[in-house]
Amino acid sequence: MTRRAFIAGNWKMNLDRRGALRLVAALAEGLAGDERCDVAVCPPFVYIDEVARALAGSKIRVGGQNLCDQPEGAFTGEISARMLRDVGAELAIVGHSERRHLFGESDELVRSKLRAALDEGLDAILCVGETLDERTAGQTESVIARQLTRGLEGVSDAELERVTIAYEPVWAIGTGQNATPAEASEAHAYLRGVLSGLYDDSSAERVRIQYGGSVKPSNAAELLGAREVDGALVGGASLEPDSFLQIVRSR
Ligand code: PEP
Repeated sequence: MTRRAFIAGNWKMNLDRRGALRLVAALAEGLAGDERCDVAVCPPFVYIDEVARALAGSKIRVGGQNLCDQPEGAFTGEISARMLRDVGAELAIVGHSERRHLFGESDELVRSKLRAALDEGLDAILCVGETLDERTAGQTESVIARQLTRGLEGVSDAELERVTIAYEPVWAIGTGQNATPAEASEAHAYLRGVLSGLYDDSSAERVRIQYGGSVKPSNAAELLGAREVDGALVGGASLEPDSFLQIVRSR
């Protein structure tokens, strides 16, 4: 089955208001009339509103990089799924490795955030990936299977259609050292097998699995052309219009 590619930019804690608006203006212009794949940008929370307004009428969707698993209340500093929707976000990233490893998010919290996003009508990108130590210890499959299985607990077949998986080996994120297309394909095929076991073959076949980890213009065609790779979650290279556009166009 051919799945439509999905390329998302994760800006992390970068850019300022002017830079954000300049970037999306260039992306909207560069991708006008370009139907080859789905594209999204995930700005810092405080810029989502303006970025979403600037992108109104374009095909580029806007997402949050994180969200609170609670709907409202005394959770100082947090942002709910409903707030994200209210300012124009249509999706949210959950379980990014920086959230898991720098901020101690557990599989259980990631599952709860995914639930909050889906309940509020947001689509989600669920990130999974092993650290270098885990890969070296031969634990890649057990780690990503655990993150996927726990993250998707309670997600129905119908809801699964609104979930994209991002395979992001932690050792490849922001390091310049990407997984090879063969390594990415192998992990993606494995994840799809896990999805088949959790759901069924046809539901699993429809899920898009992005690769993330040092995707840049020089390796994008090879990675995006790899068997089982349905798009990319791009960090550093999504901060410049030229590099992000080159990545999108290399699909
Ligand atoms: C990411 O932030 O999810 C990511 C993959 O970053 P980078 O592309 O910079 O490695």
